[in-house]
Amino acid sequence: MQLNITLKEAYGRASNRLRRKMEYSIHLLRKAEKLALAYDTRGGYYLAFSGGKDSQALFHIAQLAGVQFEGHMNLTSVDPPEVIRFVKRSYPEVELIKPKDSIYHVALRKQLLPTKKVRWCCEEFKEKAGAGKVTLIGIRHQESRNRAKRNEVEISNYSFSGDLKAFEKFRKKKLSAAKSPSTRKRGEVNITNAKEEKTIGCISGKETLLISPIIHWTERDVWEFLNKVAQVPHCELYDQGFYRIGCICCPMSPPRQKLIENERWPHVRRNWVKAIREIRSGGVLQRTLTTSNPVVRYWERLEADMLGKRSTTTGTFNTQTRTTGKRVFRLLIA
Ligand code: SF4
Repeated sequence: MQLNITLKEAYGRASNRLRRKMEYSIHLLRKAEKLALAYDTRGGYYLAFSGGKDSQALFHIAQLAGVQFEGHMNLTSVDPPEVIRFVKRSYPEVELIKPKDSIYHVALRKQLLPTKKVRWCCEEFKEKAGAGKVTLIGIRHQESRNRAKRNEVEISNYSFSGDLKAFEKFRKKKLSAAKSPSTRKRGEVNITNAKEEKTIGCISGKETLLISPIIHWTERDVWEFLNKVAQVPHCELYDQGFYRIGCICCPMSPPRQKLIENERWPHVRRNWVKAIREIRSGGVLQRTLTTSNPVVRYWERLEADMLGKRSTTTGTFNTQTRTTGKRVFRLLIA
């Protein structure tokens, strides 16, 4: 979806507060573009798109910045159909990437449901995308306590987290450590050379350099930007009471949200119930352990959490129980 306004017009439509944030985001995008092009000369940035409001804001601020990018949406097999329809209709330039295997099959293979603590689905379906590239993501500090700790520039293997200035220092340090004194003397250290950057270990192989241009934006900023500045449509789910758009029954959603989603998209609930039953009836858990075992209680709690139900298990799970559960679980999976 193209915006038919100039940057000056966009600034003119924004409040002073939003304008300052837009200026900062555009400055960051333009400065880091050199890096993105060094890793992908044709595509530039790898923009991770979800069809939600934050990724829409990210998409359009990148357009206004005039930087080179390509939008990609990694599907998980539990995506709301309304979101897929919206993206296909409004953002046909975004590439929809289908998963090789459904989330239920991966759960069966792993003998484990995705949970808040073991969020393997994000790693499996989303985080590997854009490997070896500079990826734009639409996270914001305001979203959660964890996200409040995130930084605008990060390497996906956690070897760096900070701002662009600190990242430049980090890269220069890496470069000087990688180069022998003789090559440094010959002036071969060129931080904008794609070949150099791929070999000095800043990011390589499966790693990704993550840039979060709207990290300081609030929800109010995002809606002001979409409605007043960019004037673009949004997914219908927001108008039907959904405040967050993501996978159906995401383990990160509160139980009440999961209940609503279970009712709205019963096929997802059916598939999860089927997967849970298959794991429990044919799986090693049923044969090896009795229901009084802490591992089984832990497992039941995960199921209840995934389906947005209150767990039938009484008692709390202390760290010791969780640790035991994990240890035994690993043994069982092996
Ligand atoms: S279900 Fe949630 S945690 Fe898993 S991939 Fe989707 S958004 Fe990420």
